[in-house]
Amino acid sequence: MKINKSDVLVIGSGPGGSLSSALLAEYGLNVALIEAGGAYPLSSSPPFSFQEIHTKYRSSGISLAFGNPNINYAEGFCVGGGSEVNSGLYHRLPVSILNSWSNNFSISNLTSDELIPFYEINEHELSVNLCPADLLPRSSLMLKKGADALGWENAEIKRWYKYPDDGPIKQSMTETYIPRALSAGATLFPNTNATLIYKDGKNWAVNAVSNGREISRFIAKSVFICGGAIHSAFLLKSSNLSKLAGSNLNLHPTIKVVAHFNEEINDLTASVAPHQVKEFSPHFSFGCSISTPTHLKMAMFDVPNGLDIVDKHAAYLSTYYCMVTNGSGSVKKILNKDPLVTFDLGKEGYENIINGMKKLCECLFAAGAHTIYPSTRNSIVLNNMADVEAFCTNISLSHLNLMTIHLFSSCPLGEDLNRCVVNSYGRLHGHEGLYVNDSSLLPTAPSVNPQGITMAIARRNIINFLGNYFDA
Ligand SMILES: Cc1cc2nc3c(=O)[nH]c(=O)nc-3n(C[C@H](O)[C@H](O)[C@H](O)COP(=O)(O)OP(=O)(O)OC[C@H]3O[C@@H](n4cnc5c(N)ncnc54)[C@H](O)[C@@H]3O)c2cc1C
Repeated sequence: MKINKSDVLVIGSGPGGSLSSALLAEYGLNVALIEAGGAYPLSSSPPFSFQEIHTKYRSSGISLAFGNPNINYAEGFCVGGGSEVNSGLYHRLPVSILNSWSNNFSISNLTSDELIPFYEINEHELSVNLCPADLLPRSSLMLKKGADALGWENAEIKRWYKYPDDGPIKQSMTETYIPRALSAGATLFPNTNATLIYKDGKNWAVNAVSNGREISRFIAKSVFICGGAIHSAFLLKSSNLSKLAGSNLNLHPTIKVVAHFNEEINDLTASVAPHQVKEFSPHFSFGCSISTPTHLKMAMFDVPNGLDIVDKHAAYLSTYYCMVTNGSGSVKKILNKDPLVTFDLGKEGYENIINGMKKLCECLFAAGAHTIYPSTRNSIVLNNMADVEAFCTNISLSHLNLMTIHLFSSCPLGEDLNRCVVNSYGRLHGHEGLYVNDSSLLPTAPSVNPQGITMAIARRNIINFLGNYFDA
């Protein structure tokens, strides 16, 4: 068996793990970074293509949180994690939610003012920008048009993108913090899945399986678990290190609709439409989804003749979503090697999804859509608000096709030992040298795209760790 020794081991190379690795290595620590998925450059597959889904998503994007209804969730599974496949939409955390986190979870030193320097440096390093006006997709402007007509708050959301003359480049982890970590001396082990963490004298030992068969052991004084909200909790549970881990999974349950316009609003490329409507947030909010023919077909799968409609009218169609913040779930370790994920949307979540879908349809009709296809199991076609009312009155919970790409809260941070898996800076309660530093830490659903918030908190925690490390 191969044995690798380092000062610090980072498990998982998503936004939390990549940022952690780069900073730790740049401060002179010997860092090993292991990643269960493969290593591919950002440009290795066209954005939002089937090829990307097959190579860079876990289980080709088909994972289920069991509940009523079940919720399909997707996670990145490659070096760079979700940052390699996502839309790059950036938010800071709404102040009201930050205050509720600090108060309800007893988190020390987590205020808006304290986070600002971490946001600012991350925004600079990730090139967080508005899109040049001539690149804004028309489908985005349709959402704005509908919201403006109704007087609803909406805005173009910034993204981590560079816009050179030869085309936009997303600032994913393989474009930013991974190269920085490597040039500062970190060693990356792709295709290497951590299976067990245990104490080895004063150090931590981690068993891992590389390329599905080679067993290796990593030994380090400090370990940062950054496997994302499902797998960080699962690894802690598999290793019997925390009973609470995974008992508080939150996510953003989301429903999609496809809107059919009289004019061409879809350029059929993978361009991301960055407008969002926050008028009703945190109860529900709307935005635009990827609307390539492939993605339109996935959204129209249950619509009668849906695939034909896409073949004939793709340029007139665009996908939009309504997202809520309700419900709670869990990550469980049963007998097998994969986590069992459950999620209960709850009565309020159901009402918010239904009310949100009504408002989204209203917005899209106000923008000029003539037909809306909601993503539900017995999908029908909606031509006006009377259809929407009838549909929303009659639809049952089990017929909603819900999905999510935002997962968090499985290892909340804070000092409340009844609720928090890690302390205010990400160290596992009751264990020295073992940290979580990814989206698992966010105590509740943030109501906005979560990666920017995860990264600000991750940077804060690493700076705190380094302060203690060099003081010791
Ligand atoms: C399609 C899609 C679009 C999205 N769009 C946006 C957006 O526009 N804006 C936004 O803010 N957020 C977006 N998100 C969400 C965002 O990508 C995630 O919140 C973010 O990536 C979470 O970061 P993380 O560090 O917690 O973990 P992840 O990105 O999930 O990375 C965890 C990594 O750890 C690896 N890993 C897990 N377990 C192990 C193990 N045992 N051993 C070794 N490695 C392991 C995984 O393979 C993975 O690569 C999107 C997500 C998806 C899937």
